[in-house]
Amino acid sequence: MNTFILNNYCMIKIEDLHKSYPIGKDSLHVLKGIDLHIKEGEFVSIMGSSGSGKSTLLNIVGLLDIHDRGNYYLNGQLIKNLNEKKAAILRNKFLGFVFQSFNLIAYKTALENVALPLYYKGMARKERLKIALDYLEKVGLKEWANHLPSELSGGQKQRVAIARALVTNPKVVLADEPTGALDSTTTDSVMDLLKAINDEGMTVFVITHEEEVAAQTKRIVRLKDGVIISDALTKVAKAV
Ligand code: ADP
Ligand code: MG
Repeated sequence: MNTFILNNYCMIKIEDLHKSYPIGKDSLHVLKGIDLHIKEGEFVSIMGSSGSGKSTLLNIVGLLDIHDRGNYYLNGQLIKNLNEKKAAILRNKFLGFVFQSFNLIAYKTALENVALPLYYKGMARKERLKIALDYLEKVGLKEWANHLPSELSGGQKQRVAIARALVTNPKVVLADEPTGALDSTTTDSVMDLLKAINDEGMTVFVITHEEEVAAQTKRIVRLKDGVIISDALTKVAKAV
């Protein structure tokens, strides 16, 4: 494993960020002035009850949605005037996504699923399948390469999804409730995998509403009613 020296480079910098959704003639103010700095190599979780704005925040960080007010810098770059094309380019370059429901394509094999982001990058089939196989090996699923998602357990599906998130060599992995559909043993193995990825230097940003999951990350940011109510290192971080 690589030795990684945590530096001070700010991967995600958010200043006084606001987001509202239009609801009929009204609007729902969901994020009410978020300030958050995440440095390269951090392993951070966002905790909060349902409806507190976690996914809204992650979607903005992931360039899947746009904030109304405040500043967001990704890898030093101010995010503004974002259109879908520009967002897609930045996502492909910097971000890997993991979702609660895995979001694998049912009729594609594990290997093809992992290789898909490389297809969107225009890489030739042979090359992308070779790289995808390396990532499946990394998550311990090389033997399952030619199986369909329906033939895999929940934990295995999430491992495939994590391999897919990593295959483009992103700067940050964003995971929205990655263990939400898993039992506790499988949850631990998925968190162990995210920890191993972080140990190699990847910045990992996880949403969860489970204390036990958050406790396995190195820093917990607590969100309530659209504001951050606490932001602290965990025992895991202090043990390093
Ligand atoms: P969490 O992930 O913490 O459960 P969300 O960020 O998904 O919370 O949602 C925060 C609030 O914003 C909720 O009240 C939710 O109903 C509302 N919301 C989320 N997405 C939308 C949307 N696209 N349009 C309108 N309201 C939304
Ligand atoms: Mg959510």
